[in-house]
Amino acid sequence: MVIGIDLGTTFSLAAFMNNGKPEIIPNAEGERLTPSVVAFAEGGRQLIGNLARTQAVANPERTIASIKRHMGTDYEVEVDGRKFSPQEISSLILRKIKEDAQDYLGEKIEKAVITVPAYFNDNQRQATMEAGALAGLEVMRIINEPTAASLAYGLHKQDLHYILIWDLGGGTFDVSVLELGNGVFEVKAVGGNTHLGGDDWDERLMDYLAQEFEKLHGVDVTKDRMALQRLKEASEKAKKELSTKIFAEIRIPFLWQEEDLRLTLSREQFEELTRDLLEKMIEPTKQVLSDAKFTPTQIDRMVLVGGSTRMPAVQHLARQLLGKESYKDINPDEVVALGAAIQANILIGEIKDVVLLDVTPLSLGIEIEGGIFAKIIKRNTTVPTSCGQIFTTAKDNQTQVDIHVLQGERLLSSDNINLGKFELTDIPPGRRGEAQIEVTFHIDANGILQVSALDLHTDNEKSIQISSSYRLSKDEINKMLEDARIHAKEDQKRKEEIQIGIRAESMIHAAQLVLEEDEGLMDKLDVNKIEKLILAIKTTLYKGGYEDTRARIDELSKLVEVVYNAYKCKKRNLEMETKDAAYKRI
Ligand code: AMP
Repeated sequence: MVIGIDLGTTFSLAAFMNNGKPEIIPNAEGERLTPSVVAFAEGGRQLIGNLARTQAVANPERTIASIKRHMGTDYEVEVDGRKFSPQEISSLILRKIKEDAQDYLGEKIEKAVITVPAYFNDNQRQATMEAGALAGLEVMRIINEPTAASLAYGLHKQDLHYILIWDLGGGTFDVSVLELGNGVFEVKAVGGNTHLGGDDWDERLMDYLAQEFEKLHGVDVTKDRMALQRLKEASEKAKKELSTKIFAEIRIPFLWQEEDLRLTLSREQFEELTRDLLEKMIEPTKQVLSDAKFTPTQIDRMVLVGGSTRMPAVQHLARQLLGKESYKDINPDEVVALGAAIQANILIGEIKDVVLLDVTPLSLGIEIEGGIFAKIIKRNTTVPTSCGQIFTTAKDNQTQVDIHVLQGERLLSSDNINLGKFELTDIPPGRRGEAQIEVTFHIDANGILQVSALDLHTDNEKSIQISSSYRLSKDEINKMLEDARIHAKEDQKRKEEIQIGIRAESMIHAAQLVLEEDEGLMDKLDVNKIEKLILAIKTTLYKGGYEDTRARIDELSKLVEVVYNAYKCKKRNLEMETKDAAYKRI
């Protein structure tokens, strides 16, 4: 059984596919959402979820919330002298989710898809993978939350192009624009406000309630931790009520000694109190649209995610900004987990919708002889993927090759982006072209690239992993594509020139071999002809006469062949040199 997990800042939850439909898995407490809170009680006992959240006021030093904000950093939490990394804390939440799901479904769960915000970088994604592994899960893929939400709405099955997603949760506001084409969701732009969420609405109401209480009773209850917590809970409750009702009755008995708090709040009042918070959503949305170079009218659909998008004011603003209704039929707290479950089942082949979720935005490859870029994985290849090619040595007795990994679309490696370098050593000395070095590029589903070089004669292998450096922003990718287009002609010319140089060098080498092999046997005239041609090639090459060089190389090639047939020098060596080499040379 595979599940999808939304590992959220305030809440986490899981979903599975039940008879072709994604469904939320309730936790052991029977609830659909598990607070992303971990606490250490007396004697080091771990409390996770609701229990941890409930005791938070009484035990704030040993209660950890919102750990997601620290994923991928070297932040550590210290509890009772023990240090925990963000991924360890997250793994405790994931473990509860997994175990509760196993109990509910009565099946072992080994694999999961976990969602992350679209703006998460490689370190944050990697940390999320690690958290999954620590919880005993095989993380099949990390997917973007807005992509998961779009999958849950089945947008990949519709003829849509651009989708705007608002995700307003407890503590963060994320805006993303996705482009959909051939089933591929591509993140065009992301933005938002990492310090704006439902908690701010609660706090605003809390302050208001405290002020009202102070007006009546002359005490500032916010100084009292217990009273503060009760105010917070009442505020959140009232806020939620006002999403469906026009009025909310707020009542907190004995908030301060014998005094109760009693108040009726209208939705209008609440919206007035929090107007500036709502307005904070406008600027990031406009920014994301302008980053993606869109006007609101070009957006085909808007999707609302996150519990706080239930507030009517938020939905109203969405309508105002985009001029159309947004998708909000699926519970906004659950839509991401449901999409993750769909993705998990696509990955195991249970769902046959062909959704290609990620592609390589640029080609990946290595530098070969002459500084030419040899592509190994072409751009727009769907990941995960593995591609390999066999290369050989460029010089006689070359015992080492430098594997220089690059990304880009330009023909010469110096114009592309450097991703890393490593050496494969201890290649047995031999003629150039004899060694067989298999270079393999593997990109896993999370976009992590592994490059390995294997000496097929000795089984000696070296590799590197490139995880953080190769993701580029949309702008950088576009610039690379544009540059490749602009320089296509001159790059091609430059590449051909380099290749002529390499061929010339090879041919001269081959001719010299023939001369050496058959020294003394050959007719003086033939020797002279060959030597003259070699000199001519060197001269034209030096002068940059590439067409002439090419003609003379062909001439030399024919002559060497004739001589070869006449004098029967070692066939293998000659073939290796005169024909286009079997393998590209590093
Ligand atoms: P999420 O992290 O996406 O689950 O969002 C949690 C946030 O949504 C919290 O701030 C909740 O108070 C808020 N929320 C949940 N339900 C509602 C509702 N009916 N109306 C307004 N806010 C809500």
